Amino acid sequence: KTILSDKINALENSPTIGMAQKSRELQAQGIDIISLSVGEPDFDTPEHIKEAGIKAIKENYSHYTPVAGYKVLLEAISLKLKRDNDLDYNTNQIVVSCGAKHSLYNIFQCIINPNDEVIIPCPYWVSYSEIVKLAGGVPVFVETGMEDGFKITPSQLKEKINDKTKALFLNSPSNPTGSIYSKQELEEIAKVVADYPNCMIVSDEIYEYITYEGTHESIAQFDFIKDQVVVVNGMSKGYAMTGWRIGYMAGPEWLAKAVSKLQSQLTSGVTSIAQMASIAGLTGTDEPIVKMRNKFKERRDLAVKLMKEIPGFEIETPKAAFYLFPKVNQLFGKTYEDKTINNATDFSLFLLEHARVATVTGEAFGAPDYIRLSYATSNEMIEEALKRIKEAVALLK
Ligand code: PLP
Repeated sequence: KTILSDKINALENSPTIGMAQKSRELQAQGIDIISLSVGEPDFDTPEHIKEAGIKAIKENYSHYTPVAGYKVLLEAISLKLKRDNDLDYNTNQIVVSCGAKHSLYNIFQCIINPNDEVIIPCPYWVSYSEIVKLAGGVPVFVETGMEDGFKITPSQLKEKINDKTKALFLNSPSNPTGSIYSKQELEEIAKVVADYPNCMIVSDEIYEYITYEGTHESIAQFDFIKDQVVVVNGMSKGYAMTGWRIGYMAGPEWLAKAVSKLQSQLTSGVTSIAQMASIAGLTGTDEPIVKMRNKFKERRDLAVKLMKEIPGFEIETPKAAFYLFPKVNQLFGKTYEDKTINNATDFSLFLLEHARVATVTGEAFGAPDYIRLSYATSNEMIEEALKRIKEAVALLK
């Protein structure tokens, strides 16, 4: 018997964070593990952003901030949404939280009643299903695969959406697949949702700046659906600021008010210093972003090329983010010594033990035929990791 609540017992540990921890433990034992499991840029936060953080400390930005964020930060986000996405949001429609993850948590706490349904296209970012469950909602999954570019179609959506559907998750560009919805695809999805005025589209656009092919489009651009959209974005990926914990939502004012109310009772808002640093990021030069993106693209091309040489790995070149999401189900049923690889989790553990490379099982993303590898690491590490994987796979019978 445990004192812990049913709610917390039903919650899964974050598998990406779990794998990172496991590889750190092995590293601590002196085993040389290459970690391709992490979901963050390996770059340092750009200098001008760090300087703004230091300045904020020196200028005594050390008091509670407004719950939704400093007005200047909300203005900088409003300008960014106009500049990059041609979206009009005023500062009353924006709330800053402790990372996009926290923005998502807040949104679902504010809109979900027990047993409301939330449509989640698979593969999905690991926390979506848990954030929905924590709010008392029921995740409704829609399968997609490599064959359809990992994107849902309007007819798939029509099959699942109903009067109990409270929200649809969209994540373009996607973690883990790197797929991107085109403007036309988004418009078609928006048309389906428009027939259900109580259904929100939660559009997680955190990988916006890490796009190599095509352009990032926001579903909020269509006036006929904008009132049903909440855009979520943040500083973590595009600005290499994962540890600063700044994310935000922009959406209808009633939702921003509700999220603020919730936040006022929970966190009182976000770290003052990180807010001031974020303003420098949003309004400053985009040179570091461009440099980072170019580097990621180079690594992507290298990683895809090397992975294509590994038997049993099927891969399409991802268009965005910094992950490879190969299909590996051809390797299921193979054995090593007396152990059989039955699924993606077994395979991921096999790679950890025998290739000394940490990856994440596709099961964590609702995609059991795949694994995820992050290429947010140096070319040398990518080369060494894929060499090790190739050698380990050759041991399978
Ligand atoms: N959304 C997606 C798709 C992500 O991959 C991540 C981080 O891995 C987040 C949201 C959360 O980002 P943060 O809370 O650091 O802003």
